[in-house]
Amino acid sequence: MTQYKMVKTLLTLSMGAMLSISALAKPTVMVVATGGTIAGAGASATNSATYTAAKVPVDTLINAVPQIKDLADVKGVQALQIASESITDKELLSIARQVNDLVKKPEVNGVVITHGTDTLEETAFFLNLVVHTDKPIVVVGSMRPPSALSADGPLNLYGAVALAASPESKGKGVMMFMNDTILAARDSSKRINIHTNAFDSQWGALGMVVEGKPYWFRQGVKRQTNNSEFNIEDIKGDSLPLVQITYGSDSMTPVAYEAYAKAGVKAIINAGTGNGSVPNYLVDTLRNLRQQGMIIVRASRVQDGFVLRNAEKPDDEYDWVVAHDLNPQKARLLTALALTKTNSTKELQRMFWQY
Ligand code: ASP
Repeated sequence: MTQYKMVKTLLTLSMGAMLSISALAKPTVMVVATGGTIAGAGASATNSATYTAAKVPVDTLINAVPQIKDLADVKGVQALQIASESITDKELLSIARQVNDLVKKPEVNGVVITHGTDTLEETAFFLNLVVHTDKPIVVVGSMRPPSALSADGPLNLYGAVALAASPESKGKGVMMFMNDTILAARDSSKRINIHTNAFDSQWGALGMVVEGKPYWFRQGVKRQTNNSEFNIEDIKGDSLPLVQITYGSDSMTPVAYEAYAKAGVKAIINAGTGNGSVPNYLVDTLRNLRQQGMIIVRASRVQDGFVLRNAEKPDDEYDWVVAHDLNPQKARLLTALALTKTNSTKELQRMFWQY
């Protein structure tokens, strides 16, 4: 063998070895812990519903499921330790900034966020709107604390890491994962507050994770992540424009709407009855507020279906906006983000059609 041939053979062998090592290298998944029941603790194993949320630190959560190390190199970040009902814009923006920093790192393949289930859908939707990446971001929670019999957190975490580690999860937008089920952040919500199948979407699941393998059945068509016009990097400070929700029922009064206006609220999401209806005795109140500059968005207290523009009320004439199929809490976030860019109701309506 000539010297040239020997060198060539050695080079080919070592390149082959390098390639097979990189094929074997596990993806890196960051677990960003924020608290919630998945990190909760109860007095006894039979306390499946009575416990304190946000107690267990991230490393304990990770070490409780050693099997996730077979799926990925997993590293933990303790972003917050909070029950999710207490999350405000400040915490939401902080989570988004931390996740954004992580997905920008070339060595990170995916991010899992452990989160309380109460406002899990809000954080997931917000990230879906403001983090530009095609890397998988998975928000996971549990309904029973780790201290309870049949705790659901460990298997949920295992599935979430599998999802975040899978190359097939790229470009699917921010996902919510619990009870084996992969759900889209924009249209999934908490629907049962006691069972482990707490979340669902009227448009169906994206897929499932079974024994650490994702299976896919659908994909969303709305703008999200890389395709969003919102970017966490453009948002300054610790708060968003103030947007609040009013809840529809029979026998309402204008008091809440007027109080919000006095308090400097910029937009009201009216979680109306049926098709986002507004009672005839409140129409003047809402029209007056609109004339004073308040944005009025008609959403619905009914969890399925969607609000049709000009169907229940003449939105064109009143200059109101409809939330389409976004539930009131998601409509609140999209409106707040929209108000960082524009006060135009036409633009806001366009966003509700697109996101
Ligand atoms: N209140 C808890 C939380 O959202 C409930 C849960 O995590 O399931 O933090």
